Amino acid sequence: MRFNPKARIDQSQIETRSGGGRGGGGMRLPIPGGGGSGGKIGIGTIVIVVLFVILTQCTGVDVLGGGTSGGSGSGDSPAANSCQSGEDANKSDECAVDLFTNSVQNFWSKAYPEQTGQPYDVVKTVRFQGSTQSGCGAAGADMGPFYCPNDKQVYLDSAFFDDMLEGQLGAAGGPFAIGYVIAHEYGHHVEDQLGVLGQIRTQRGPKSDAVRVELMADCLAGIWAAGAQKTTDANGEPIISELNQDDIKRAIDAAQAVGDDRIQKRSSGRVDTDSFTHGSAEQRVRWFNQGMERGTIKACDTFATDNL
Ligand SMILES: [Zn+2]
Repeated sequence: MRFNPKARIDQSQIETRSGGGRGGGGMRLPIPGGGGSGGKIGIGTIVIVVLFVILTQCTGVDVLGGGTSGGSGSGDSPAANSCQSGEDANKSDECAVDLFTNSVQNFWSKAYPEQTGQPYDVVKTVRFQGSTQSGCGAAGADMGPFYCPNDKQVYLDSAFFDDMLEGQLGAAGGPFAIGYVIAHEYGHHVEDQLGVLGQIRTQRGPKSDAVRVELMADCLAGIWAAGAQKTTDANGEPIISELNQDDIKRAIDAAQAVGDDRIQKRSSGRVDTDSFTHGSAEQRVRWFNQGMERGTIKACDTFATDNL
């Protein structure tokens, strides 16, 4: 995929914060189930770990329960944002995050009122380095991207994409995998506006509310993916100039890679559906596709069905 080089980035949707440090330069990401023993970590493991972190802690649901840890909150000083255009976004993952944020919110600013009769609230992506404070407590690099319902912002550690997506996931992920992550997080914001996040009662298990919320966010990300090429900047310039089936497949691969069963198999060698929090690989792909094909929030209502 390519961003339209002429598209302008709307920085009013982005907040950049610097400082906070890099946590001593060690391994910043937790390895599920001791997968890192022996010192050598295969690239497959890293990919899984990265996506595990992206998508297991992204709702702010855990955070809502009051369990926050880590992060000094010292990264709260505002930093300059040099991302201006689609040209920048084609070169830098950080700028790609910004333009994907614009694309996703441009999309929902039209689609949400059409489908619900209510206005869509544009909110910010906070790009930070190291650690920062969020309305859901301290945010650290080890948490991965998440949506905080308390302050209605998406939080994302810049180094996460620099180090991980570019360095480790570059070939496997591709830029549209970043788009999927952003669209998934904004899916939680859409859920928040719909009042869905307030319905979470059960946190674990194959039919838990947590799984329903995550599969719905994948479905909402799919709706955006299908309409992404039509999104425009403030001047009406298309944001994305090229998007093909391979890009879509990469987003689907990313959704698949973060299925609970895949992650569990990687970390412990077995699958325990009772501890599912996000749904299986098959479910995540199916709901992403459901969003792409059906295109409506209603078709993404995972609380209305037992056929998850
Ligand atoms: Zn999520």
